Amino acid sequence: MDMQAKKIIVATGNEGKMDEIRQILGKENIVFSSLRDENLQDIEIIEDGATFEENAIIKARKICEITGQMVLADDSGLEVDYLGKAPGIYSARYMGEDTPYSVKNQHIIDLLEGVPDEQRTARFVCVIACAFPDGHTITTEGIVEGQIGYEEKGTNGFGYDPIFYVPEFGCTTSELLPEEKNRISHRGKALLAMYNELLRERVL
Ligand code: IMP
Repeated sequence: MDMQAKKIIVATGNEGKMDEIRQILGKENIVFSSLRDENLQDIEIIEDGATFEENAIIKARKICEITGQMVLADDSGLEVDYLGKAPGIYSARYMGEDTPYSVKNQHIIDLLEGVPDEQRTARFVCVIACAFPDGHTITTEGIVEGQIGYEEKGTNGFGYDPIFYVPEFGCTTSELLPEEKNRISHRGKALLAMYNELLRERVL
């Protein structure tokens, strides 16, 4: 590790998220350490908040209390307007945590069968929380608007990316190159906002 690099623990076991976080802020002299890197992958965190923000705070605080260090957590998900903003905060658990995304994605496509483009609006939402050992917590949010596609497309990204169509790009977030997705994504926006907050807090 670089002498001046700052280590930040990220309270996630999701490697797709970790990869994106490292790509988005990895050049800023920060080393991100996952729960697995910290040997904390078996800690049970009950995400019983009612919002992305509450769940992000629950995760960040819990790991901060255990480690005594500054901890980032991301809570994110897909909101499909036609489905009353489902799966929302239940995105990871939708149809069961272990159900393959090919099945979850096809299910959403099926639920929207015959629904015209203008009613297929959806968004990815991401809230990043940073919990500090002194007990205070800050949060930032990022959103990317799009539409649910008619079939899975693309092989990049993870989760619901193959069905999340972004009209400006004319393709799904799974068809974008990682750096293109990170530039426009909910996580990219929330993380950059968090980076600026951490500079303001003088912890970086
Ligand atoms: P969390 O780990 O409880 O925050 O759940 C996040 C879930 O939302 C992921 O497991 C995915 O199902 C979905 N999700 C969040 N961000 C993305 C993304 O960038 N692409 C695709 N799916 C995402």
